[in-house]
Amino acid sequence: MIAKVEPLTSARALRGPFDYRIPNRLDEVGIGSLLLVPFGPRRIQGVIVGLAETSDLPPERLAEPISALGAGVPPELVELGLWTAREYCSTPSRGLQLVLPPGTGRARKPVRPRTELLVSATAAAAEALAGAERLGAKQRAVLERLAGSAGETVTLGAELAAAEIEVADRATIRRLEDRGLVTTREVELSRRPEVASVGTVRGPVALTEDQRAAVAAIERADGGRFLLHGVTGSGKTEVYLAAAEAALERGRGAIVLVPEIGLTPQTMGRFRARFGDRVALTHSQLTDGERADEWRRLRSGEARICVGPRSAVFAPVADLGLIVIDEEHDASYKQESDPRYDARLLARRRAEISGATLVAGTATPRPESWVALERLELPERVDSASLPEVELLDMRERSGRAGALHERTRAELERLRNEGGKGIVLVNRRGYAPHLSCRSCGRAWGCPECDVSLVVHRGAERLACHHCGHRERLPSQCPDCGSVTLSRFGAGSERIETEIAELLAPLPVLRLDSDSAAGGEGHLGVLRRFEAAPAAVLVGTQMVAKGHDFADVTLSVVLDADASLRFPDFRAEERTFALVSQLAGRSGRGAAGGRVLVQTLAPEAESIAAAARHDAAGFLAGELERRRELAYPPFASLIRVELTAEDGAAAERTAAALARTIEPALPAGATLLGPAPRFRLRGRERRQLLVKSENRADAVAAVRDAVEAAAAGRGLRGVSISVDVDPQ
Ligand code: ADP
Ligand code: ZN
Ligand code: ZN
Repeated sequence: MIAKVEPLTSARALRGPFDYRIPNRLDEVGIGSLLLVPFGPRRIQGVIVGLAETSDLPPERLAEPISALGAGVPPELVELGLWTAREYCSTPSRGLQLVLPPGTGRARKPVRPRTELLVSATAAAAEALAGAERLGAKQRAVLERLAGSAGETVTLGAELAAAEIEVADRATIRRLEDRGLVTTREVELSRRPEVASVGTVRGPVALTEDQRAAVAAIERADGGRFLLHGVTGSGKTEVYLAAAEAALERGRGAIVLVPEIGLTPQTMGRFRARFGDRVALTHSQLTDGERADEWRRLRSGEARICVGPRSAVFAPVADLGLIVIDEEHDASYKQESDPRYDARLLARRRAEISGATLVAGTATPRPESWVALERLELPERVDSASLPEVELLDMRERSGRAGALHERTRAELERLRNEGGKGIVLVNRRGYAPHLSCRSCGRAWGCPECDVSLVVHRGAERLACHHCGHRERLPSQCPDCGSVTLSRFGAGSERIETEIAELLAPLPVLRLDSDSAAGGEGHLGVLRRFEAAPAAVLVGTQMVAKGHDFADVTLSVVLDADASLRFPDFRAEERTFALVSQLAGRSGRGAAGGRVLVQTLAPEAESIAAAARHDAAGFLAGELERRRELAYPPFASLIRVELTAEDGAAAERTAAALARTIEPALPAGATLLGPAPRFRLRGRERRQLLVKSENRADAVAAVRDAVEAAAAGRGLRGVSISVDVDPQ
């Protein structure tokens, strides 16, 4: 038998698969097996991607693998990994790395299994204890403990420690074993991640009529593709739970994708509460060991449901029957390093491969999903709670000196202090102020590595670049002119937190952004404190708009709602609509009702006006019209090619050459824009090409071929190329 092996290497130019002869001693390997193979003078790891009876190579040139490394992955994951590589112009090696068990492949740190030693006494032990043989104190203690357990096995760590035999170390056990007084058996333990609890987890509920209809449609359609469009608080998670239960009843597994997990512990908690040990979790805060063990529990079928962020789309769930994408509008489903995959597209592909049903749920669907998926609607909040009223506050009428908060906002915040209740304030920018400059000479502080302003972080007394992480001390005077009057322009979450805390003292004001989360207690600690407080205000970046379900929030505020509209990006409208709607959805889930204030310089913008009307359908109709006219997704696909180099001229030259190769290879009707300069980042000059085409597959192929040819040639010299299909 011949194995077609794709080597796990970082070299773009090295392309497999390569043929190896499988010897009899390795007859258990198959597609998906991870192997150690000889490769020229080296030994490298590789994955079997295909099998064949014969090879085109002469027999004397066929090498044999050295060994098989573990159980490998199911064939359908090999298919998914390779598909990802092709679809996103990456390499097979990087695509396969995504589906391999944690800690294997090219991962630098192999994960050791955690084991436990089971010990039991032999028949000879009783005689030894009776005095026939001499025993050390430690050995005697262990045997006495085992004698008390009447022939049962006892685990070394926990049980003996419980019996207060602190002296029972492995050396003692080994000595007893050598003397034939005990036998031991090593078993592998699963390291199980804890689920942090925040918010209330209720037991199973009686589904509403809308929920029942949605579940019935999902159960009926084996292999269907659905958009569960439910307003915030309409009970979408209950639908996912019921659909997962139905899948389990049919003997099938499920994958539940959630946005970055630190922010959605409630979904995890609810799945764990409903399905117990049959749920495995993966997320970025797990240890390597936990991740590896959860992977193994899924692979063995011990766990049947995997809950996790985008990478969970690669979970080794056998007989997959259902894939849920919760909050499908969330940008975190896109991976921002090579392969720059979109887990939502991969979920569709995986559902196709496995014949699974796909359910994408959100209150703010993407235009892509609105047209492509069958719609299931949950138009009302559970318990018929009404959606909160949204008030737009026009900030254009205000003088520049009036501060970041509108009078109405201040008044409503003060009402929280006076009457109780909780509020959430979204300010889509972290730090204290986004710019620092000298009042006397006009000096502005920018990042030495990137062409952007440094952001003032007052608490940390620092200036920081939010693109590359560069930091410096917050200056107290201008190094150019010596002036001590430095101005901090604009307001970020830290400044708003300070302002509101001053306004509302002694009401607790908490901050949730990636800076506050980094400081020890993490997101969860902040969310828990907010939950526990009888009255409080939570200030933060878009993190505060995600999925939390706090019944007693009565006020939501969005500051500078149009900030996201000012990005030169065709998704700006969609993002703004989602952000305002999602934040509005945090308010008024309880009996006290809710109120939403949206401060904006562009109250007439359709994305903001539609969000204020809770009108997703209206917004999407207009947005799709606009996208059709401009030939943007979902009516065409975009492919962005970025070239970076220390030397701008080199990046420019390579970009131009690449454009000349790509352009003639593009399918009819496709356009290529660029090379266009992008701002310098991490000390590297950047150029970008943008391809737009209705023929996605052929356009991707044209770009892939050109990039591969460029990588194989010698002309790159310090220029690196990355491809982003469906850039966000
Ligand atoms: P969504 O995911 O749509 O925002 P959730 O599923 O989180 O909504 O539901 C919001 C709240 O309503 C949760 O606390 C949930 O337990 C509760 N809930 C959901 N469905 C029902 C129901 N049929 N009856 C009672 N409470 C429900
Ligand atoms: Zn100055
Ligand atoms: Zn920088």
